Amino acid sequence: MTQKAHQPCPDPLQDIQPVDVSPLQPLLADSYERLMKGRPAPPVAVRFYPYTNLNHTIRLRQGQILIRLSDILADAPAEILAAISLILLHKLLKRRPPQAMRRLYRDYIGRPAIRRRSLLVRQQRGRKWLTSEKGRHFDLGRLFDDLNQRYFEGRLKIRRLSWSRSRNRRILGHYDEAHRAIIIDRRLDHPQIPRLVVEYVLFHEMLHAVHGERFQNGRRWVHHADFREAERRFHAYEEAQRFIRQML
Ligand SMILES: [Zn+2]
Repeated sequence: MTQKAHQPCPDPLQDIQPVDVSPLQPLLADSYERLMKGRPAPPVAVRFYPYTNLNHTIRLRQGQILIRLSDILADAPAEILAAISLILLHKLLKRRPPQAMRRLYRDYIGRPAIRRRSLLVRQQRGRKWLTSEKGRHFDLGRLFDDLNQRYFEGRLKIRRLSWSRSRNRRILGHYDEAHRAIIIDRRLDHPQIPRLVVEYVLFHEMLHAVHGERFQNGRRWVHHADFREAERRFHAYEEAQRFIRQML
């Protein structure tokens, strides 16, 4: 849950459509053969990977070259993805990557939009696994149990519930599907925050655990109509919304 748009809850990259990277494979095989003076290239696989940072890796394992590109670049232009893949290939083969490729890549990741996106990813993915559910002012475990009884007949199960390690400017809560974990921003563990606000943010994330995601017209939706309707069942919906809008 973000305080402004209530948008990128589970992951900042959720709405990005990854481009098809399969055309990179023949390109990389050609470059390999050229750099290795005609030696045939091993199979090459290129994938996007949800690193916490703008990281890319290449390795040769079991006769295959595996390239993992940060999914921060999942919708980057083909020439950028080609540049970074070729830079990695040069490194693997202990060759110096061409200056032009390095510049192309550097200019691209220097763009404000990409830098913003990297920052968001770092904040959101880097901030898990934290502390405990018991804060100074609110005990998330107790709030969870109450909400679970009240709205889910006590049947909702998650694996982890925690306050975030650090305060976050944008995100109030986060549901991590891979770990079935709910993380609530530590900023809300404060005497000036009404209990109903903490409950509301927690309830919102619990709904993510219940509803999951939907696909429509090739897009992934987490705050779909059913989700929004369920959310309005919260006993102090208007009040919590108002507080979040005004105070945070
Ligand atoms: Zn959400």
